[in-house]
Amino acid sequence: MYNSEWESRKLIIEIGKRLWQKGYVAANDGNISARLNKDELLATATGVSKGFMTDDMIIKIDNNGNSIGRGNKYRLSSEIKMHLEVLKQRKDVMAVIHAHPSFCTSFAVAGIPLNKCIIPEVIVTLGSVPIAPYGTPSTSEIPESIKPYIKEFDALLLANHGALTLGSDLMNAYFKMETLEHSSRIIYQAMQLGNVNVLQKEDVEKLMEVREKMNIPGKAVQCTYQKKEETVEQKDLIKTITTEVLERLKKSKETN
Ligand SMILES: [Zn+2]
Repeated sequence: MYNSEWESRKLIIEIGKRLWQKGYVAANDGNISARLNKDELLATATGVSKGFMTDDMIIKIDNNGNSIGRGNKYRLSSEIKMHLEVLKQRKDVMAVIHAHPSFCTSFAVAGIPLNKCIIPEVIVTLGSVPIAPYGTPSTSEIPESIKPYIKEFDALLLANHGALTLGSDLMNAYFKMETLEHSSRIIYQAMQLGNVNVLQKEDVEKLMEVREKMNIPGKAVQCTYQKKEETVEQKDLIKTITTEVLERLKKSKETN
């Protein structure tokens, strides 16, 4: 469903403010885009703080990134190419947000994908979060690097750069960015404490059932769960069986 142009502009300004207030972007970082209808989009201008946007800093464009409507003194962000690639591939996506939140970007810098099943909320709403290879900002390297991931993932880390979230509407894309950053912070802190427990298969399966029941839009590739560890009794049993088998083999060899 499309929002009206007025509603979309209001939401983009509000989300920009929140991204900046939460420290998800610094200076003029980040960009937001949203579909207005099948032919038109809104996108944020380059060179402006997303925390202090006015209506004229939101530019109406077509699906190829050409500015339409009234003349504008602001220029379109070069990172729009990344948004256009997403919107071209995913007809179900209505809004795209790019930011540089510090915790998830730290994972992107460290080269640690958020692909393990750790926090229920993330498993249900985002699934696994991969890292797209590094590309030079503002060139076509970034759209190229995210290309293989867009079809299956609603949240991506961009190596040594930041994060990208895809939403069924503007608020959905924004909340995905919040979930991504909040969970990255928790996982980072657990790593500092020295242990991260990963959920087991059965727990993950239950969560995927919840996702299906709730009819959550978008994609969530299943994360990697913890394989059940063998208990002491199981280990003893395996040892006994192995010894027994080896004994029998030895005996049969001797009789032959
Ligand atoms: Zn960026």
